[in-house]
Amino acid sequence: MINITLPDNSVRQYPEGVTGIDIALSISEGLARNVLAAKVNDEVWDATRPINTDASVKLLTWNDTEGKAAFWHSSAHIMAEAIEALFPGTKFGIGPDIENGFYYDIDLGNRVITDSDFKAIEDKIIELARQEQKMIRKEVSKKEAIDFFTKKGDEYKLELINELEDGQITFYESGSFTDLCRGPHLPHTGFIKAVKIMSVAGAYWRGDIKRKQLTRVYGITFPKQKDLQDYLLLLEEAKKRDHRRLGKELELFTFSPNVGLGLPLWLPKGTALRERLEAFLKKVQRKAGYVQVMTPHIGDVNLYKTSGHFQKYGEDSFRPISTPIEGEQFMLKPMNCPHHCEIYKSKPRSYKDLPLRMAEFGTVYRYEQSGELHGLTRVRGFTQDDAHIFCTPDQVKAEFVGVINIVMKIFKALDFKEFTAQVSLRDPNNKEKYIGTDENWEKAEQAILEVTKENNIDAVIEIGEAAFYGPKLDFMVRDAIGRKWQLGTIQVDYNLPERFDMEYIGSDNQKHRPVMIHRAPFGSMERFVAVLIEHCAGKFPLWLAPEQLTIIPISEKYEIYAKKVLELLNNYEIRCKIDNRSEKAGKKIRDAELERIPYMLIVGEKEESDNTVSVRKQGHGDMGTYTIEAFAAMINDEINRMTE
Ligand SMILES: [Zn+2]
Ligand SMILES: [Zn+2]
Repeated sequence: MINITLPDNSVRQYPEGVTGIDIALSISEGLARNVLAAKVNDEVWDATRPINTDASVKLLTWNDTEGKAAFWHSSAHIMAEAIEALFPGTKFGIGPDIENGFYYDIDLGNRVITDSDFKAIEDKIIELARQEQKMIRKEVSKKEAIDFFTKKGDEYKLELINELEDGQITFYESGSFTDLCRGPHLPHTGFIKAVKIMSVAGAYWRGDIKRKQLTRVYGITFPKQKDLQDYLLLLEEAKKRDHRRLGKELELFTFSPNVGLGLPLWLPKGTALRERLEAFLKKVQRKAGYVQVMTPHIGDVNLYKTSGHFQKYGEDSFRPISTPIEGEQFMLKPMNCPHHCEIYKSKPRSYKDLPLRMAEFGTVYRYEQSGELHGLTRVRGFTQDDAHIFCTPDQVKAEFVGVINIVMKIFKALDFKEFTAQVSLRDPNNKEKYIGTDENWEKAEQAILEVTKENNIDAVIEIGEAAFYGPKLDFMVRDAIGRKWQLGTIQVDYNLPERFDMEYIGSDNQKHRPVMIHRAPFGSMERFVAVLIEHCAGKFPLWLAPEQLTIIPISEKYEIYAKKVLELLNNYEIRCKIDNRSEKAGKKIRDAELERIPYMLIVGEKEESDNTVSVRKQGHGDMGTYTIEAFAAMINDEINRMTE
């Protein structure tokens, strides 16, 4: 008998050779029907693979990321089997699962797959799925593997096999299709109940532009038809919210190939939005004891050699700029940190100066391949809402609390109700991978764990995910349609203080190293604005909206009164305009709704004689009649409640 430890730490005994499915069956039949794979001592296995030694086992279902991965990766095999049946002689590259679904890179020879083939592939996949084909794992020798694919004539698989070690090669068979694969896979294909081929694209073999371009076929599968329908609805909703589309429609930003790919141009409305975000954060930071600094967009190459960024970004990034006569070399700034280190070092520091919280909306430049660029979320120049806190090791915890408070204020002001966090710690079994003393690591890690707990933050703890220079805390928000976005980060750093030889004089009159904390609650202004647009579908919170209200006179007769209302509202710093087009009031209201303007003030005879306005709120409709003063007080109150 062997001992199997389950996730709740209970230990059960089973005969040697027990499988994930057997274990599930011993718990409940319902569970056994849903088991897609099994995590055996941190490695994901087929749920049908025999376990021969004591092990800890977690049974994976559709609700586990790793369960989904096995589902989608298995689906890639079935799609390949379907394509081979429909397009005999196709050669196969690799077919991994991805975040949403899977793809397979294939070589169709002279043939092409287009949208019109998708239906036939989907039908074939469902046909093969219904056969409940077993996915059978086979260990093969390197020679057997080479013989098989030489006979089949698939040079891509042969190239992959050549890089593998004999004794570590496995095949998987499902129906008539045999693939070189490490696994894991579903017990059988019958789990797949719904499929959609999403798209095809060109992809160079092994990502190398010098090699052959293959066809990448993307698909997604689900265990229920309903899940597929929900997914397609979500995609449609995401399309409506696409920040690239809305950014254009709402005239927030644009790109010009003449300026360069991945370099956003902020239009007046987008600039106003960004400035308001910056002003909000600056105000919050001022209250939290930050000081603002400004640094240039380039820096001497040697600065980045000192910081280590040249080694990290130099080779694969924008080339250094040289001066014509002196032969100096500068780099576009990839990070603000080295500049801030130099500011720290601009004068001697004492423990009484700490913590020193230095903030800058610093623009940085990093090279991204043109194919990787995406709207505002993947760009080549962006502005971080950056700050560096220099403090003593004892101050790390309090500083974390301070930063978390800022992050919470931002989430509240922008109506992100759901968020999660990830705490990344070092791997205690691999301490040599990290720099900094044990004592400082323990102090900082303890501080992060305590702070997240004390603030009731739902945090996942990842061991071994820390940067080599320190532990970190990352925030993820869930947007209005349930998608997760990575936003702000807080990182402890023992490395740069070392590299820049930073010091402070302690109360003991001795020299000490400060700890550095990097933090950027928005991440970057570009990425944050993109996430915000997609979250609120362009309907920005009142305090951020480019135009907060529009005054709609119901006919020309009331334009003079409309102007009076506008002037009064200007006294309250409310951003508004008059819609004096010769259109019907109904049409003006509809247009204001489309422009996503939060409030509409309708003025006619009654309003003029009573000195009032009739208020309509975006998405709420009629809110009744107000005096100007009462209306201004109401919206100021709405703004204050969100941003205080
Ligand atoms: Zn596979
Ligand atoms: Zn930094």
